[in-house]
Amino acid sequence: MTLIVQKFGGTSVATPERIRAAAERAIRAQQAGNQVVVVVSAMGKNTDMLVELAGQISSRPPAREMDMLLATGEQVSVALMAMAIDALGHQAVSLTGAQIGIRTDSSHTKARILSISTERLQSLLDEGNIVIAAGFQGIDEQLDITTLGRGGSDTTAVALAAVLDATACEIYTDVDGIYTTDPRLVDDARQVDQISYDEMLELASLGAGVMHNRSIEFAKKFAVPIHVRNSSHEKPGTLISADGEKESAAVCGAALSTHDARITLVGVPDVPGTSLEIFSRIADRRITVDMIVQNVGEEGKSDLSFTVPKDELEVALSTIQEAAEVLQAAAVLHDNGVAKVSVVGLGMTQQTGVATRMFRALAAADINIQMITTSEIKISTLVTQEQAERALAVVHQAFELDRQVPSGDPLEPVVSGSERAQTDVTEIVNRLHRVGMEELVIDDITLDNNQARITIRGIPDTPGIAAAVFEEVAGSGIFVDMIIQSFDGEEGLASVSFTIPQSQYEAALQVAELICERSQCQGMTNSPQVAKLSVSGIGLRSHTSVAIRMFRALAETGINVEMISTSEVRVNIVVDGNHGEQALLQLQSAFQDLLQ
Ligand code: ADP
Ligand code: ASP
Ligand code: MG
Repeated sequence: MTLIVQKFGGTSVATPERIRAAAERAIRAQQAGNQVVVVVSAMGKNTDMLVELAGQISSRPPAREMDMLLATGEQVSVALMAMAIDALGHQAVSLTGAQIGIRTDSSHTKARILSISTERLQSLLDEGNIVIAAGFQGIDEQLDITTLGRGGSDTTAVALAAVLDATACEIYTDVDGIYTTDPRLVDDARQVDQISYDEMLELASLGAGVMHNRSIEFAKKFAVPIHVRNSSHEKPGTLISADGEKESAAVCGAALSTHDARITLVGVPDVPGTSLEIFSRIADRRITVDMIVQNVGEEGKSDLSFTVPKDELEVALSTIQEAAEVLQAAAVLHDNGVAKVSVVGLGMTQQTGVATRMFRALAAADINIQMITTSEIKISTLVTQEQAERALAVVHQAFELDRQVPSGDPLEPVVSGSERAQTDVTEIVNRLHRVGMEELVIDDITLDNNQARITIRGIPDTPGIAAAVFEEVAGSGIFVDMIIQSFDGEEGLASVSFTIPQSQYEAALQVAELICERSQCQGMTNSPQVAKLSVSGIGLRSHTSVAIRMFRALAETGINVEMISTSEVRVNIVVDGNHGEQALLQLQSAFQDLLQ
């Protein structure tokens, strides 16, 4: 018998009528011949209300007690959902995370799932029950209640679909599916029929709150197809699976995150071990760092900027102060009035000029870019919060995301549970069942020894500099790989670094010199030979330990990190070209335990 998991988000269970409608949907699925597990979130804005309530009692509520409190939201809705099904004349049993046996680690408020026991679930299903599972919660070794992080019911749903070998996981929400960007922010956002795991992973972790990013890590690791649909009608929605849209455009979506704050360390020593000193402390606090940008050093010093979640800024700053003292940094600056606007697309790897198009669109709207980072399938820019929504809209328009990509094939049928088992995920899945379901997966470590780096330092920071630089570079037929633009500690100046193929170094140098002269830059720091090392896997951004392991491995042998870029599927580090081979060996041994 096939099994499906249906998850209903807060809005979809906000009122008794909606709970009844969700119950009817679950019953229909059972009557169609499926075993059905329903995962529910807390009703409406209940979790927000509980957070607010805690805030009225204490400015720093202990994380353990927060979990005790927040888990009650889902307990209310599972009970009501089971009652609704019972009232409609069908069998249902509600279960909390603890009753299901969702074991997590003890990181309260952001716990990771270690294992899920399926015996009880399966026997309840076999007895003809619809099982109603509380989303977002689990239990740790001490039997304390934990929660998975805001939006975590999606992760519960996909994890249950994975362990129960479900045919599909249906996510019912308040929009028709996945859109090219948040439809509440951009009117002409377009719903897509299909999107790949990698693209959705990036979009989710860059701010598209429609799916909890860790749910997509699960889906990818365990090959669970996800259907995102509107709970209030029958439209087909969006399929998230291994394949993206058939004829993929360079960019499939844009995302905005207003939950980040920027931290800059001014004047840190540009020597091996600096990044390790800073980021290992932050990782110890389980704070996820994004958009790491380092100015390539001048007189042995460099500035380092990165973003952290705004609600963890205070902890991050106190941690960074300690590192700043050790490193004798000149200053620690921060800004929580920033927002991150990103574009994502698998097609980006095949097309040049994608970054330029984004920078040009922002420049044309007179929006200044404070920082830029790129990776293979995403480009992120940091702008002021006031300009963020406008920035999202102009970028969405620049890539014509409102227009359908001409593509023939309709939605592919979802692969069945038994087909899933035949895919090559079996080995990964076995390992994850042993070590913990949300453990890191590393696929590959590679070295690209054929790149060069150009850095233009101290350009007056006005809207349009990035567009001007990269239009000129691309116009000369030079293929740019990684791009970073940093926020200079010094007022009103920015630095831009990019990597290019070594064969184009001379040509790029000429263009860069011209740009430097014209823009009255402070100077250039270039390298005709750099090595790019990449670690690929799943969920690399949420597992901060990956970058740390890389930093540690390189620092141990005295190799300096020149550039870094992180994404969900890959962490890239650029080092001096003479150290490429040695760095590769170091990284291979540092990740040995995860590579087999
Ligand atoms: P639920 O309570 O059902 O989990 P969420 O509020 O967590 O719902 O997620 C749905 C919301 O996500 C939508 O209302 C929409 O505003 C927002 N959203 C952000 N980015 C996107 C996107 N790319 N596609 C669809 N919705 C998005
Ligand atoms: N109720 C939780 C939240 O609001 C979990 C979820 O809805 O996914 O974050
Ligand atoms: Mg949600």
